[in-house]
Amino acid sequence: MIKPTLPQNTVVRIISGFVTQFLLFRNDAEYITTSTTIHESKESLDSFAVLARYHLVINQIHSPHPRNFQIYAETRHARGSIYPTKTIGQEIMKIQIIQFALPLLLAATTLNVMAADYSTQSLLAAKSTNSSTGNTSASIYPETSVDMQLIKISEHTYYVQGMAGIATDNEGFISNAGVVITEEGVVLFDALGTPSLARLLAQKIWEITDKPVIKVIVSHYHADHFYGLQVFKDMGAEIIAPEGVEKYLQSDVALNRLHERRNSLKPWVNAATRIVNPDKTITGQSELILGGITFRLSALGQNHSHGDLVMQVSPDNVLFVGDLVFEQRIPFVVTGNSKRWLETLTDMNLDHVNVIVPGHGAASFSPVAALSATKDYLDYIRTTMQKAVDDMIPFDEAYKVDWKKYQNLPAFEQANRRNAYSVYLSLESDSMDGN
Ligand SMILES: [Zn+2]
Repeated sequence: MIKPTLPQNTVVRIISGFVTQFLLFRNDAEYITTSTTIHESKESLDSFAVLARYHLVINQIHSPHPRNFQIYAETRHARGSIYPTKTIGQEIMKIQIIQFALPLLLAATTLNVMAADYSTQSLLAAKSTNSSTGNTSASIYPETSVDMQLIKISEHTYYVQGMAGIATDNEGFISNAGVVITEEGVVLFDALGTPSLARLLAQKIWEITDKPVIKVIVSHYHADHFYGLQVFKDMGAEIIAPEGVEKYLQSDVALNRLHERRNSLKPWVNAATRIVNPDKTITGQSELILGGITFRLSALGQNHSHGDLVMQVSPDNVLFVGDLVFEQRIPFVVTGNSKRWLETLTDMNLDHVNVIVPGHGAASFSPVAALSATKDYLDYIRTTMQKAVDDMIPFDEAYKVDWKKYQNLPAFEQANRRNAYSVYLSLESDSMDGN
């Protein structure tokens, strides 16, 4: 076991880190990430020269006052995979920063830096004796036990299929992610429901290609699809999302959800899990051409969520539709606009589409059939609730309609009544407006 020693110029680095952090605190940014390199060493680790870098991630959990910060650290492999530090992966401190409490923070940060340095060295020592996959047992990305397989759909496209269930089942592995391999790099569609799952996805990708992940297209900002973003963002990928997600990001829902998932998806969603904003949002249609592959992105506005996006990949003729299509479970309707969603599915252009990959459930080689289950559900819920609203039947009565076609599907208990209620309320409000 190597003893902890601080590099000679650490003091200088710590001081500069404090100044940076202090300046950052003065801005009221919701999420602040600053990186302070405190330890660089080139050591032979596997076949790679390792540039171990240490990052401080300062994550403001509650806002605005009193501020509640949590501080974490991680080390990073030169190739982009992440070896989290051992000690700091846990929630090592949680301090209320009130006025003039900065000295406390600075003292704590010093301890943090020393611990990170120690962990880096222990990790390097551990790695040199055991050169397996690079996982540490107590990491900020705790290992997940799910069975994740890349399924090939066409020449360039793959996907991983989440298991049927609600958001907190299966260690959070309930949604799908798409992988498109081009000459220029890998493009992902969605980032799964925890950083640990995203990290496993990255490992799966590296088994089949050496190309870096350069872009992540996010279908929509629901926790089960984007909590893995930080893994790819930290590798340098650009995050692209549809307009509308800013409404989610600015709402209390985003932070409350994160707080809830830290409990309900412990330890995979933990104190180091952070919300990653998109680098770019798109409106309407846009096209990306990378390594000879065309990505047609369509931002569709509020359908299933505050903003949804679909991606068509050519020449592979694969359409990734995110949560506009649910297979094998009850769709989640509450944050969306069921009317527009139903119209989108009805009008969807399926020319040059051989395969549809939904946000949940298996890819389908029968595109028309793939849309029908979600379409039927939306149609049923809207028709039954519309009738109740027209007849001025209270919701409790209205909900007594026949659900047997759906009641055995996963998420029925959790989602169906809320879906029906939100549709009922929106139809009631439409009727008041005279629509
Ligand atoms: Zn969703």
